[in-house]
Amino acid sequence: MYCKRIEVENFRNIEKAEIDFSDGVNILVGENAQGKTNLLEAIFFSSVGRSFRTPHSNELIRFGESYGDVLLTYRDSSRENKIHLKIMKDKQKLVEKNGLKMDKLSDIVGSFRSVLFCPEHLSLIKEGPHERRGYMDVAISRLYPMYIHSLQRYAYFLKQRNALIKNAIKDRATFDATVELWTEKLADEASTIASMRYKYVKRAEKHIVECFSEMTGDRERPTVIYDGSSGQIEEEYLDKEKTRKKYFELLMTSHEREILAGTTLFGIHKDDIDIRLNGNRARNYASQGQQRSLALAMKLAEGEICCEEYGDHPVFLFDDVLSELDEGRRDYLLNRIEGKQVIMTTCEIDSMEKISGAKKIEVKSGSYKEI
Ligand code: ATP
Ligand code: MG
Repeated sequence: MYCKRIEVENFRNIEKAEIDFSDGVNILVGENAQGKTNLLEAIFFSSVGRSFRTPHSNELIRFGESYGDVLLTYRDSSRENKIHLKIMKDKQKLVEKNGLKMDKLSDIVGSFRSVLFCPEHLSLIKEGPHERRGYMDVAISRLYPMYIHSLQRYAYFLKQRNALIKNAIKDRATFDATVELWTEKLADEASTIASMRYKYVKRAEKHIVECFSEMTGDRERPTVIYDGSSGQIEEEYLDKEKTRKKYFELLMTSHEREILAGTTLFGIHKDDIDIRLNGNRARNYASQGQQRSLALAMKLAEGEICCEEYGDHPVFLFDDVLSELDEGRRDYLLNRIEGKQVIMTTCEIDSMEKISGAKKIEVKSGSYKEI
């Protein structure tokens, strides 16, 4: 798969730009605050229908304008396609694929496939579970668009159930009469999501272990396991009915604690990925370098799985990552991505000297020029 061209209008600091990419390495080079990340954001936006920097699409519209527009042309194994997204202030986005209007943003997820890696991804190891749930959710949505609908339904049921819990002190009768219904719906959706996450993480672990050991030659071996907050043992996730029952029973026996806390205490919105090196939690024990290697291995695993599933490589988007890596890891990464399309950003072109044949694009105040 490769991103051939992007046409952008009123997106962040880009007033108007038309950029053609090569199917190999593309380097966006420029000083700080010129529009390098903004362009990657526009490409990623065409991939998943949302930004990696903000949940509010109004922020993507250029200051003082009423709309933003992105038209991306890409090739997959069979044909050339176009994804068109138009963001209008405080309105629903317009989404088109090959000129056909799509009902929902989620209809384009999985079409143009990209894997993004930026320095903040170190938080995959360092930060709390929220980051790791995001990692699973983006990757699984790309493979199975129905997963997005499960997440949306889960979020809706959770909101209803939380409102009920909050109101229980004032109105216990309504709580008692309806909590079972919402709990059933929540447990049902939770079991679908948990089993997909479990299978994905199991699959990713194989690639993460391989990348990590190739990269570091380390004798320390990573383990990467889906960590449900509801005490399931691993294989139980494969049995949807067992998982559903477990969530349901746990939630139905936690009412008093939940009313005290004012929220739903268990479920997939609390889950995590348990990442360890030789049995020790990476978050607490791994060195900076090991954490960096693990985060990179997780992103490369995302690309590998995407390729296994669709038969072609996704487009890799690297925001400012090469300058953050030491020479060994940089060489490993460059080797690993050979033959794939990469669009990367940097402030220092010198750090890219080892890459031959790359297309270099200079970025200045939201304008893009091949150099
Ligand atoms: P760095 O090397 O520091 O990462 P960069 O080239 O990646 O820089 P970007 O993040 O792409 O920089 O662009 C940042 C610029 O875009 C800032 O000057 C910011 O003020 C501007 N900007 C962000 N959002 C908008 C918007 N909605 N409208 C206009 N300009 C915006
Ligand atoms: Mg940037």
